[in-house]
Amino acid sequence: MSASATGRRHHVVIVGCGFGGLAAAKALGRAAVDVTVIDRTNHHLVQPLLHQVATGILSEGDIAVPIRDALRRQRNTRVVLGAVVDIDLDARRVAVDTIGLRREIEYDILIVATGARQSYFGRPEFAVDAPGMKTLDDALELRGRIFGVFEMAEGERNPAARRRWLTFLIVGAGPTGVELAGQLAELSRRSLRGNFRRIDPGEARVLLLGAASTILPTYPEALRERAARDLRELGVELHVGTMVTGMDEQGVDTDSTNPRVQRIDAATKIWAAGVQASPLGRVLAKAPGVELDPVGRVKVETDCTIPGHPEVFVIGDLMGLDDLPGVTQVAIQSGRHAAQTIIGRLAGDTTRRPFRYRDAGRLAMISRLRAVAVVGNLALSGFPAWVLWLLVRLTSLGGLKNSASVLFNWTVAFLGRGRAPRVISAQQAFARQAIEVHACDAANEPALSTAAHAEGGLP
Ligand SMILES: Cc1cc2nc3c(=O)[nH]c(=O)nc-3n(C[C@H](O)[C@H](O)[C@H](O)COP(=O)(O)OP(=O)(O)OC[C@H]3O[C@@H](n4cnc5c(N)ncnc54)[C@H](O)[C@@H]3O)c2cc1C
Repeated sequence: MSASATGRRHHVVIVGCGFGGLAAAKALGRAAVDVTVIDRTNHHLVQPLLHQVATGILSEGDIAVPIRDALRRQRNTRVVLGAVVDIDLDARRVAVDTIGLRREIEYDILIVATGARQSYFGRPEFAVDAPGMKTLDDALELRGRIFGVFEMAEGERNPAARRRWLTFLIVGAGPTGVELAGQLAELSRRSLRGNFRRIDPGEARVLLLGAASTILPTYPEALRERAARDLRELGVELHVGTMVTGMDEQGVDTDSTNPRVQRIDAATKIWAAGVQASPLGRVLAKAPGVELDPVGRVKVETDCTIPGHPEVFVIGDLMGLDDLPGVTQVAIQSGRHAAQTIIGRLAGDTTRRPFRYRDAGRLAMISRLRAVAVVGNLALSGFPAWVLWLLVRLTSLGGLKNSASVLFNWTVAFLGRGRAPRVISAQQAFARQAIEVHACDAANEPALSTAAHAEGGLP
């Protein structure tokens, strides 16, 4: 029976505690509702800083906040660890799997905020050799691979094999690819200097491949050119208008007409191209009238609800509305909009207010002291953009402890040369083998493992 019929408080269930889910939960903190936040991980993750975990500047704890801690002061909110694997829109309940334990949770209002995962454009087999970077596990595995190949190169006597170990290839020349390329160049040329005896880490080859005709396609031309110049100065090879057509453990094949790039031998390949919305979109799209856009986002009404179900909101990267980009500010603002709509409805306001996105700008760091930024009509590059980048990222961390720790690690890495968090465990050092063993085990396990993997838990 509905909450209004029985007089009990409305139960709002939020699935996913990324930028959108957390913003919605916080905005409901003082509302006269009961809130349940469900996430398959125990942390809220600042994805824009994942590349710094992968390249050993930051620790995983710096960019992730335990969800229970983030919401500890909200007496109306409880947190459930588990993956939502099904949604019954008629019965108004979600099915949650927590390491094989299946339970159902009923809702009066549902907010789905499960984000997006990597897309390999119909070539899922590329994921084996070119992991993406969406989760902490992805970043830690990449860290293992990145620091592991320098170790392999140090022990390698064959020059061709050594070159292959020291070649890093990033597929995708958007902000994530650019930031990774810049950091890999800086790591090899600057941070690792003097650490090895038989190899010069500065000889590492860093290639950035993009299918579009330019890097950072959504940035103004002047900033694109500036970013390209900065990357080249760092020693990054840029190859735009180039598609990967094949991949194996040894390297990649491309459609380039440049013979040097048709086949690239590279031990480390990283996929930073393309996203695909969370599979929960497909579950919602079983309802009549609910459709997905080409990248799997749920097409919502202007108030972020799904057609025919005003009690179900879809926000953030999973939301398909006016072709809004998959960025943190869209997620945060749509999360707040959903919460305000719910609070308004409880107060008797039935007006369906459309969601209006206020563009807060774009930022990409190239290396220490260099970034590009667009804020309103202002285009910034170089040092001022880098300072802005630092300030914006610091304020997105959601806690004094994390901000202090990040500031300390940045000072060590950017003013000095150190990268203390580059330490890797034995499991990370042999990351792929460890994950393959885990994947074999998981194949024999029910529910959560397979669901989590399918949704991007593993690359
Ligand atoms: C490497 C990288 C760099 C980025 N850089 C930038 C940047 O510079 N600027 C910018 O604005 N944006 C950037 N983004 C995009 C930005 O991070 C996203 O737009 C934002 O995180 C979207 O928020 P969200 O709440 O929709 O999803 P997310 O933040 O992805 O959160 C989704 C949450 O749902 C949980 N979840 C998923 N499936 C389930 C399930 N079935 N059951 C339970 N829980 C589930 C996940 O664990 C996660 O906590 C970047 C993204 C990445 C990956």
